[in-house]
Amino acid sequence: MTEKLSAKEFDLNFDAIMQRLESVAKRSGRKTEDITLLAATKTVDVKTINYAISRGISYIGENKVQELLLKNDDVVGAHRHFIGHLQTNKVKDIIDKVELIQSVDSIKLAKEISKQAKKQDIVMDILLEVNIGGEESKWGFTPENLLSAVKEIAAFDNLFIKGLMAIPPICENMEQNRKYFRKMYKLFIDIGAEKIDNSSMEILSMGMSDDFDIAIEEGATLVRLGTALFGRRIY
Ligand SMILES: *Cc1c(COP(=O)(O)O)cnc(C)c1O
Repeated sequence: MTEKLSAKEFDLNFDAIMQRLESVAKRSGRKTEDITLLAATKTVDVKTINYAISRGISYIGENKVQELLLKNDDVVGAHRHFIGHLQTNKVKDIIDKVELIQSVDSIKLAKEISKQAKKQDIVMDILLEVNIGGEESKWGFTPENLLSAVKEIAAFDNLFIKGLMAIPPICENMEQNRKYFRKMYKLFIDIGAEKIDNSSMEILSMGMSDDFDIAIEEGATLVRLGTALFGRRIY
């Protein structure tokens, strides 16, 4: 759960974020509308999610299959993404419920998404998750393996690779993440330049509540915000 959030508090949070977004876009020479704000809605109740959507949130993301399934039918509107680690045996449960899976972190998972998308006769948009900090504990492709993974996965049926996603290491000082964001942007550009069929580097998903300004300065096209919109999570 999140601490109880009033409509007014959400409005204030949202306004403050939009102001930060506009100012960082401006100083980075980018357009605000070119940066997608996705609300990370884990632990947030359906009523609050629907309120957020009514105020202008148009992208939402869940990171757990069970929670997504629990809320999905009651949420009204918004583009829906999956943003958490996805087990292969759960792909079939969400394949027809989200329009983009941001967190494709293995060839095996991509293969399963391809199989399930084929069954549904759809093309599933995906991002590949990069373990940009080289952390043992994190899922994702290493920067070194990324290009070959993109080539391999792009050849799978019923999939389209729309870009990259990363969750950098937890740092004490947010400036420390800048180097990871910069590395991600370079990968994004370099892979885009390869012009691989069935892929286009359009979305670079990086930056969360504490560091989204820095991520945008370094080239993020989509930021995923939870706490900054909905307040602190209490489990
Ligand atoms: C929860 C979550 C976020 C948002 O985190 P905050 O720090 O609360 O903004 C972003 N991305 C993923 C994958 C998440 O699970």
